[in-house]
Amino acid sequence: MQDNIDSKTYFSTELLEWYDRSKRDLPWRRQRDPYLIWVSEIMLQQTRVDTVIPYFQRFIGRFPTLKDLAEAPEEDVLKCWEGLGYYSRARNLQAAARQVMERHGGVVPANKADVAALKGVGPYTTGAILSIAFNQPEPAVDGNVMRVLSRYFLIRDDIMKTGTRTLMEELAAGLIPRGRASDFNQALMELGALVCTPKSPQCLVCPVMAHCAARIEGVEETLPVKSKAKPPRPEYRLAALVEGDGEHAGRVLVRRRPDTGLLARMWELPHIPAAAIAGEGAGLPDGPAMDRLAAELAAAGVPAQPVEAFMDAEHTFSHIHWNLRVFRFHEAAGHAAAAGLPGLGLAAAEAGAAYETSGSELEEDSAEYRWIKPEDMAALAFPNVFLRILKQYSPLWG
Ligand code: SF4
Repeated sequence: MQDNIDSKTYFSTELLEWYDRSKRDLPWRRQRDPYLIWVSEIMLQQTRVDTVIPYFQRFIGRFPTLKDLAEAPEEDVLKCWEGLGYYSRARNLQAAARQVMERHGGVVPANKADVAALKGVGPYTTGAILSIAFNQPEPAVDGNVMRVLSRYFLIRDDIMKTGTRTLMEELAAGLIPRGRASDFNQALMELGALVCTPKSPQCLVCPVMAHCAARIEGVEETLPVKSKAKPPRPEYRLAALVEGDGEHAGRVLVRRRPDTGLLARMWELPHIPAAAIAGEGAGLPDGPAMDRLAAELAAAGVPAQPVEAFMDAEHTFSHIHWNLRVFRFHEAAGHAAAAGLPGLGLAAAEAGAAYETSGSELEEDSAEYRWIKPEDMAALAFPNVFLRILKQYSPLWG
């Protein structure tokens, strides 16, 4: 690691000058409201700026103050977050807003221990809130920042290791110019996002290129060193898109996921594991798969006729990769369905759910299964993969 004062001073000075000249006008940069900065930082985790901007604007339009967020129904918060993914971020954000209401009278605290104690707020977000909103000289080190520092200072340590992060945090803290923590941390993030990108860094236009050790050695594209994370485990699942009949005509059957775990309390199409035994393989041929889904639906009180294999869909979570085979079904005429659903296996049984068959007025929060019409989508939060399936089924559901 190159470690001389001139190189550090040069880095901080040039970076800030560049930022002052060319920073992007982003909605969360137009004020220093810690709540808004916090929302933006949570949204920006794992998500690109361009994607976040409309979500941020809609979110603060709906929840303009921390109090509004704390007092909102969770369903509204998830609906506002729908499509952004990593929904635990939204749940934690709301839980933390409630903590701020209870512990700090609704005012985002300005000290490290209190900020770090909030739900979903790790070392990066703590540093980002304290530095950006309160101009405190705290480092905010995420993957972008580690990439820049690895390259500029030629650090070859694995950035997946905790010790490397600690080293980077110490290094970043020492780079913050007096009184400029807010701008400096944002400048570092900005350089990582716009210039020192993961692939093909734009060294020729980089404000710190003259002293960048990786560029001088010609190894910028080999840094940072990052050991591979375990790949997500594949899961194969059979999903049913059940079209209603009779009193359910024009509606489809959806269910709410259990209160805890993956995608907690979000809505989805019913689905079951494709293989009876975990790890058994990618699942059944279409005929037996539809028979098995039909049997599950019947056991759940929804006699339905298989129509066709409709589509395949995939979704990657941090640790699981879903491969969904979706089949269309048509509710068997004349059956309004009965209560109780031992068969739908999965979430229904796990959650001890009750089956709701009286329509889709959405008045009964306790219902786990519902027949919904397209208008109901405005109030129910679905994970992206099911939004895609429903949209492909008909633009009405998009
Ligand atoms: S010179 Fe290249 S590698 Fe070095 S910090 Fe700038 S963009 Fe990154």
